[in-house]
Amino acid sequence: MSLIVQKYGGTSVGSVERIQAVADKVAGFRQRGDDVVVVVSAMSGETNRLIGLAHEMQEQPDPREMDVLVSTGEQVTIALLCMALKARGCEAKSYTGGQVKILTDSSHTKARIIDIDQANMAADLKLGRVVVVAGFQGVDERGAITTLGRGGSDTTGVALAAALGADECQIYTDVDGVYTTDPRVVDGARRLDRITFEEMLEMASLGSKVLQIRAVEFAGKYNVPLRVLHSFQDGPGTLITLDEEETEMEQPVVAGIAFNRDEAKLTVRGVPDIPGAASKLLAPIGAANIEVDVIVQNVAADGSTDMTFTVHRNDMEKAAGVLHGVAESLQAKEVSTDDKIAKVSIVGVGMRSHAGVASKMFNTLAEEGINIQMITTSEIKISVIIDERYLELAVRSLHSAFELDKEPSEE
Ligand code: ADP
Ligand code: ASP
Ligand code: MG
Repeated sequence: MSLIVQKYGGTSVGSVERIQAVADKVAGFRQRGDDVVVVVSAMSGETNRLIGLAHEMQEQPDPREMDVLVSTGEQVTIALLCMALKARGCEAKSYTGGQVKILTDSSHTKARIIDIDQANMAADLKLGRVVVVAGFQGVDERGAITTLGRGGSDTTGVALAAALGADECQIYTDVDGVYTTDPRVVDGARRLDRITFEEMLEMASLGSKVLQIRAVEFAGKYNVPLRVLHSFQDGPGTLITLDEEETEMEQPVVAGIAFNRDEAKLTVRGVPDIPGAASKLLAPIGAANIEVDVIVQNVAADGSTDMTFTVHRNDMEKAAGVLHGVAESLQAKEVSTDDKIAKVSIVGVGMRSHAGVASKMFNTLAEEGINIQMITTSEIKISVIIDERYLELAVRSLHSAFELDKEPSEE
C-alpha cells in the first residue's frame, strides 16, 4: 500500500465525461489499497475565461479580487470529482486550499507556499477517504484567498506530496510524459524515460509548460519522487530524478529543447560608456517590478554602448515608458522595442563535459539562415533570441542536429 498524490490538469477534467473517467481511475487505485490524495485544476479554458471577465471590469484587475475570482475554477472540479467518486461507492472529501490550510505569502496571483497543515487530510485518509484538493490556491495569514501563478496546480500536487511524505507525486496530463521538446510543435519529439531535476528545472524555466517551475523546485528541494503521465493512456511516463547516473546510459549531450514566445526586447542606443550606466538603466526597471531576462551590451569604437534586454511581453510598454525617462537623463540616443522575438534554448547536463555544443547550435541556425539576435548561456543551457517567425524551424533543425528525433522504428 502506498500514499500517492495525483494531479489532474485542465484537459483531463475538461468535461463531465472526463471527470467521470478520472473518478474511475482514482477509484481503481483506492480499490487496490492505495491511499490517494487528488489535486485538480479548473476545467480547461475556465481560468482563461475568468481572467477575461476580470479584464472586462477593470483594465488592471485588483489582485486580491482576481484571486477570489480565478480560484473558483478549481472549486467546481473538486466538488464534481467527489460526487463522481461517491457515485462509484468511493468515499471522498473535497478541500479548497483554505480548508486544507495551504498557507501562502500575500503576493496575490503569484503567491508562494509557506506551510501546509496535513492533519485534516491525514485524518480523512485514515478513514479510507480519497482527499480531493483544489490546485493553484492557498490562503494568506489574514485569510485572503491567494493563487500560485499559472500552472500552479502542479505545485500544489508536489507540495502536498512533500507535506504528507507521499511515496510518489503523479502529474497526469494530456501528453504521456516529458518530451525532448513540445510534441505539439515537433512531430519527431521523443518521450524521455527519465530527466534530471536540473534539466527539468531549466526546461520549465525556459518555457516548457508541462510542469510549473515551482513544482520542480519543490520536488528537488524535498526529494519528492515525481512522474509525468498521460491521464487516460497507460504507460511509464517520465520520472524526474535526482540521480544523473540513473538517466539513460547513451544519453545525448542535449536532453531537450525549450522555447518561449512570451518575451519582448528593448534596446537603448548610444548610452555613454561610463561606470554606473547599466545600473541607471536597469534599476528603475527592477523598481517597477519588471523582471529582466537576457541582457546584452556592446561597446562601440566611439565609446558609447548599446544595451539590449528582454522582459515579459506584457511588460514591454511599461518598461519602454520607464526607459524613456532614464535614457533622456543619460543622454542616450534612442529607445526601441520589438515584441516579435522568441527564445530557443537547448538544455542538457551533458554540456558540462562536452565542448563544441554552442558552435553546433550556432552553425545549425546559420545553415537555416536564422539570425541570432542575443545569446545567453549557463553551465547546462544555451539560449538564443531570434525572430519569432523562425521559431518552429529553429526548434526542428536543432532537434535533428542534436540527434533527438525519433528513430524510424519508434514512429
Ligand atoms: P495540464 O493542463 O495538464 O497542466 P499543460 O497544458 O499545462 O497541461 O501542460 C501539458 C502541455 O505541455 C502539453 O500538452 C504540451 O503541449 C506542453 N509541452 C511543452 N513542452 C513539453 C515537453 N517538453 N514535453 C511534454 N509536453 C510539453
Ligand atoms: N487553473 C490554473 C491555470 O490554468 C492552474 C492550473 O491549471 O495548474 O493556470
Ligand atoms: Mg499545467
